[in-house]
Amino acid sequence: MIAKILEGKLFAAQIKEEAKAGVEEIKSAFGITPSLAVVIVGENPASKVYVRNKHKTCEELGILSEVIELPETITKDELITEIDKLNLDKKINGILVQLPLPAAIKAHEEEILNRIDPLKDVDGFHPYNVGRLVTGSPTLVPCTPAGCIKMLDLAGIEIDGKRAVIIGRSNIVGKPMLHLLMSRHATVTVCHSHTKNLPEVTREADILVAAMGKPNFVTADMVKAGAVVVDVGINRIAPKKLVGDVDFESVKEIASAITPVPGGVGLLTVAMLMQNVIKAAKLQVH
Ligand code: NAD
Repeated sequence: MIAKILEGKLFAAQIKEEAKAGVEEIKSAFGITPSLAVVIVGENPASKVYVRNKHKTCEELGILSEVIELPETITKDELITEIDKLNLDKKINGILVQLPLPAAIKAHEEEILNRIDPLKDVDGFHPYNVGRLVTGSPTLVPCTPAGCIKMLDLAGIEIDGKRAVIIGRSNIVGKPMLHLLMSRHATVTVCHSHTKNLPEVTREADILVAAMGKPNFVTADMVKAGAVVVDVGINRIAPKKLVGDVDFESVKEIASAITPVPGGVGLLTVAMLMQNVIKAAKLQVH
């Protein structure tokens, strides 16, 4: 079997079209234009690329976007003051602090992120939003796992009743993915760095999600014939070479559908962020 390649740009385009319609709807219903503030601290070149990309996508969809560049030397308290200002600013609907934070304040990451008003938390990382996801009434959901589910839906891939296996248990990908798949009635196993006999577990998956950050780790012998393979990993193995967590060349021979890297899940994340900005704007007018 040769897998269907799930091209991120096709799905991202559909999600962005929906978002564009959402922007128009809010404009005409409430007379406001949704807006996003992205806070970037320091000079991390990869972060700058991500932030530019988010800004560009906002502009493309008619969402107002403000990039707040802060110096590497900023203290935790100064950064929190900036977040407080954005929390109080009625013109701002979504707030995102680009990670990673510089080494000097990295240890305070949780405190800093938790300071964001949960109704403006478009990354969906605040304990309030995590709690809502876990209890089955999600509001702002982390963009990458939400994008994966949206892609499966748009591709017409059934989730209900399927065996799903996730490799990785991070707060950003693995854990929210567990709750999203479970809420859609999949039977889900989460694997991590202490899992024994990983290939035995992954071979049970109808839907296999790789989110571990290990280049080309998932090989064909770890995949059941006909499985749907979602590769969240983004690993830079040379200055201009990105690969996923899945060994694409061998796994595409056995899977029924697979996401490529680059050009797969990564493109969905920004598109879902736009949807979260719209959702946040709606939450704030109600
Ligand atoms: P993380 O480092 O926070 O978590 C990695 C997880 O993988 C951990 O739970 C760990 O237990 C597990 N793991 C590590 N080695 C393992 C092994 N040998 N066997 C089983 N489990 C193992 O990473 P993260 O933030 O969840 O990101 C994971 C990957 O996804 C990275 O490559 C990251 O760049 C990528 N990512 C992509 C997007 C996107 O937009 N596509 C967004 C977020 C993260």
